[in-house]
Amino acid sequence: MILSANKSVTKRKQALDFQQLGLSEETLATLAEVGYDRPTPIQAALIPLALEQHDLLGQAQTGTGKTAAFALPILELVELKPNKPAAIILTPTRELAVQVSKEVQKLAGKRQLSIVCLYGGKPMQGQTNQLKKGAAIVVGTPGRVIDHVKRGNLSLNEIEFAVLDEADRMLDIGFRDDIEYILKRCPQARQTLLLSATLPPAILELAKRYMNAPKMVNFSLNKVAADTIDQFYLLVPDEIKFDILLDLLKREQPQQAIVFCRTKLGTERLYRKLFKSGAVNGLGTIHGDLAQSSRDRMMQDFRDGKISCLIATDVVGRGIDVTGISHIINFDIPELSDDYVHRVGRTGRMGKTGVAFTLVEPLQRSELAKIERKINRRLELDPMQTHVDQMAEEKLGLKPGAPPKSKYRRAL
Ligand code: AMP
Repeated sequence: MILSANKSVTKRKQALDFQQLGLSEETLATLAEVGYDRPTPIQAALIPLALEQHDLLGQAQTGTGKTAAFALPILELVELKPNKPAAIILTPTRELAVQVSKEVQKLAGKRQLSIVCLYGGKPMQGQTNQLKKGAAIVVGTPGRVIDHVKRGNLSLNEIEFAVLDEADRMLDIGFRDDIEYILKRCPQARQTLLLSATLPPAILELAKRYMNAPKMVNFSLNKVAADTIDQFYLLVPDEIKFDILLDLLKREQPQQAIVFCRTKLGTERLYRKLFKSGAVNGLGTIHGDLAQSSRDRMMQDFRDGKISCLIATDVVGRGIDVTGISHIINFDIPELSDDYVHRVGRTGRMGKTGVAFTLVEPLQRSELAKIERKINRRLELDPMQTHVDQMAEEKLGLKPGAPPKSKYRRAL
């Protein structure tokens, strides 16, 4: 049975200081050191419930402070042993695994504990050596975690705390069996936290099977995205999307932008075209066809601000947490409306403002409508539409009887 924790959440709204959440002095000192003054809403709601040792089902995304929401209780609760990991955190992507382990390490402060990050695309040996030296907390992608379990490098039989981060994404990628394999090997008397941006039936089913009367805490970004991020669209024929992207980037001069494409090939093509055009300084790309070392380098350069414009696919875009992202540009409208929410959620983080633009091809209007239904909000038509219409007429000779401006526009 899944219990709603709404009552507790309302009560916790008053608890605006970390001191009121039941954390130890040691943790409070670390939080002061890392400069976290106040808990984010999900931290205020989730931490006290986790400290009471409930299983929790949290609807929240990266950017809400969810990592600290589960990392702090882990650091407080688990009995850290040098050799057998007491906590395991599973993430869908390598980038997210790295990001989460860095955050856990940061929050561990002066606690001496080893956090080992396990993900594919890197040789097994280095990770095996790290595990042999002893791991208190393991963060990893399911496939690689299983590889280590099967080779006898990693034992799960002392796990006290398991976290499934971005669980919906893990299921999308096809990690369901892997997750079950891992959970089945953890002791039953453990605490389990499941974080997910959406709660489709498959997630609820997983929660029912592997969690103990979990309480539900809802901080989905659907609302957040709809409320705090300006969102525009442009109706653009495929043939001139590249030109319009250049015009948009020129007009907006983003501090940092992610430009999303649907496919790995499309991402690579757009990156090369932009690179050749010389129009953008600090260009990077990240997609699943790149070697892990290039992906890691790109992510680090993006975090360091050396890359100002990152061309990405959804899978890698999902876990990206960089606070300076001012612009999201959907060069291709996402196939799934959930992905729209995830993409747009990369900006406007931690109270900063953000803006998102979606280029919609004339035949994709129904996809735009689906997204609008999902976020329960209409995107605004960007004033650049006039320019787009003119360009479509000049370059493509698109000249139906109707005035250019209304040519692609849907009936509002
Ligand atoms: P997350 O949603 O866990 O990816 O966190 C988003 C970003 O917010 C990360 O860079 C965290 O380091 C940061 N963060 C998390 N909690 C707080 C807090 N209470 N105060 C300030 N920054 C925070």
